[in-house]
Amino acid sequence: MSSLTKLEFDPRLCVRGGEEPDPDGRCVVYRMRRAQRAFDNPALETAIAAANAMKLPVVVFFGLLRRHPIANLRHYHFMLEGLADSTERLERRGTGFVLRICDDSNAAFASFCAEVKPSLIVADEDPARRERAWRREAALYPSAPLWSVDADVIVPSALLGREYFAARTIRPRIRERLDEFLAPVGNRRVHVRWKMPRDLRSLSPSTHLLADLKIDRSIPPAPEFSGGTSAALSELHRCVRTRLSGYKKNRNHPELDGTSRLSPYLHFGQLGPHTIALAARESGAPSPDRDSFLEELIVRRELAINFVRFNPRYRTIASAEPWAARTIAEHARDTRPYRYAEREMESATTHDPLWNAAQRQMVGSGWMHGYLRMYWAKKILEWSASAAEAYEIAVRLNDRYELDGRDPNGYAGIAWAIAGKHDRAWGPERPIYGKIRYMSFASTSRKFDSRGYIARWRE
Ligand code: FAD
Repeated sequence: MSSLTKLEFDPRLCVRGGEEPDPDGRCVVYRMRRAQRAFDNPALETAIAAANAMKLPVVVFFGLLRRHPIANLRHYHFMLEGLADSTERLERRGTGFVLRICDDSNAAFASFCAEVKPSLIVADEDPARRERAWRREAALYPSAPLWSVDADVIVPSALLGREYFAARTIRPRIRERLDEFLAPVGNRRVHVRWKMPRDLRSLSPSTHLLADLKIDRSIPPAPEFSGGTSAALSELHRCVRTRLSGYKKNRNHPELDGTSRLSPYLHFGQLGPHTIALAARESGAPSPDRDSFLEELIVRRELAINFVRFNPRYRTIASAEPWAARTIAEHARDTRPYRYAEREMESATTHDPLWNAAQRQMVGSGWMHGYLRMYWAKKILEWSASAAEAYEIAVRLNDRYELDGRDPNGYAGIAWAIAGKHDRAWGPERPIYGKIRYMSFASTSRKFDSRGYIARWRE
């Protein structure tokens, strides 16, 4: 590698790729996918740094899928609001943004590259992308190398090297690298501004584009959330001002709304973990509250990403540890006093008022409080024909209705609740659950003002 690019290539962040840029290329392309932001984005900053060193402009490409197997109107609406905000920010920074609606985002990306002839392509890392998919992507435009930068976590997930089985085992590995990685990302000045060629096709991101898509429109936008980095920053400031003090005590009180509600912004990459963690660390909140929040944001969240990266079976019960698989098998034939079909759960018509309220919160608002997500998934295990079926139902409902669904946190949360992931065996052994940790209506609803919550989310 030449000294020019050596300066810009940070092998700790660029977790895949690293070959020499093409000296005859005309720009650096950032293929934006998960980190949909123009601010505190390590992948975008890598592209800008390399482009500055080569005296080239940067252009961002986003392929908007016309159809999606899971994402629906709720998700697309939030995402397009976010992309509109990011485009303005990118333009102010002197970086181009090209959006195209496509049926196959790889094909659309390859034809875009043939038009703009990049010297280098930077992508944001996806823990779910396996080696074969990565190699296919790298071959789309062979004359420019592809570098993948982990923009979604504080400690790049590839550096951890293997699946960790509990928070207590990953925590020291993350903590020992925090000083190295938890620092301001920095938003560089762009040296060569992008000039949009007249014949280069691009759409302007806005919710007007929804009309051109063939997506499921039966789930409306989430009424309490507006997409975009600006909205995310306002929510972050509100959280730091009003919610962080008391977080440790209030976080398990769904009626108090004592958590940050930043998960949708993190999921769509409209806000990055560095921005949030540094704001929390520098806040005046008491240290037990800050530590508790950073434990969730960094250790738990990066444990979930570690699970998806290193366990290809993360969407099914097959991801269970051997002790959990054994206990599930031993209780497979237990009598189930309550049995509900998926559509009965979906329509919140079970006998359990707390569960129904949680389900209604998710369907109506696109978000469910974290404490109730645990209870919600455990009851699906209790009321389904098998643990495998429960896992599938929980994934389907979670991904369909939660604005932050389709996320490693969701898969890890469901695996925790139903398959004992990141947990341990609990006694006494119970019907259906075996040694999987149990949550009852009585004990769960005693811990907070469940009546108030149920009243708020009544039919
Ligand atoms: P805060 O308490 O303010 O925490 C800040 C951030 O830390 C969160 O935004 C999130 O990124 C992270 N975090 C918090 N709790 C956890 C956790 N237990 N595990 C991993 N990261 C965490 N989270 C999603 O983002 N998407 C999902 O689809 C999702 N589904 C879940 C399903 C089940 C069954 C369970 C048990 C948990 C699920 N979670 C999911 C994890 C967690 O409940 C949410 O991230 C959290 O409630 C979001 O609210 P908040 O942003 O106010 O969190």
